[in-house]
Amino acid sequence: MTSQRTRDRLVERLREEGIRNHAVLEVIRATPRHLFVDEALDSRAYEDTALPIGHGQTISQPYIVARMTELVIAKQPQKVLEVGTGSGYQAAVLAQLVPKVYTTERIEALATQARQRFRQLGLRNVRATRSDGTMGLPDFAPYDAIIVTAGGESVPEALLQQLAPGGRLVMPVGGRDYQVLTLVEHTEEGFVRETLEPVVFVPLIGGIS
Ligand code: SAM
Repeated sequence: MTSQRTRDRLVERLREEGIRNHAVLEVIRATPRHLFVDEALDSRAYEDTALPIGHGQTISQPYIVARMTELVIAKQPQKVLEVGTGSGYQAAVLAQLVPKVYTTERIEALATQARQRFRQLGLRNVRATRSDGTMGLPDFAPYDAIIVTAGGESVPEALLQQLAPGGRLVMPVGGRDYQVLTLVEHTEEGFVRETLEPVVFVPLIGGIS
């Protein structure tokens, strides 16, 4: 079921779960999540759940996408970097709220598929690259916001270096089983960290083969 009614129901659920940003909710309502999963999973695309996308990876739960998006766009960034393109859904959501989005993925096949989806949806302000995102994407730095959609033990130093003054970074930090959604703000006094809520993400893996 990919009907408008199932999308409306998802947005209603996100609202009940505490997502307050109207623009984020409307972009989620408008974004065809079923195009970001395999056809066989069409009927589950508007459930509030993570789904497999192949290569042992997942498209994140819509609640988490909404929550992280709210945090990322809070200060109206002009340029955002996402580490962990996966299906491309999170980047597609961001691209409708931010002028320029860079997204990077270590698995070539996922990066290629995501690029096709951005093209199909006419999202010309997303640039998808294949690289090890633990190194950031120095060519286009600094970024007003950075979102990491894979879990790691700590925030990679390169990402902090590529975060503009006043910028914010959101990342799941912790072990393999679960992490804590962490917000880092680049203030005049330095990097200020705030821990938010427990989350479960696939691991951030340094290096690419
Ligand atoms: N944001 C994605 C979406 O909307 O579908 C979901 C991301 S999935 C939970 C995590 C992704 O991070 C996987 O596709 C994985 O291959 C990727 N990843 C893991 N380590 C990475 C790294 N060092 N650099 C780039 N991508 C990485």
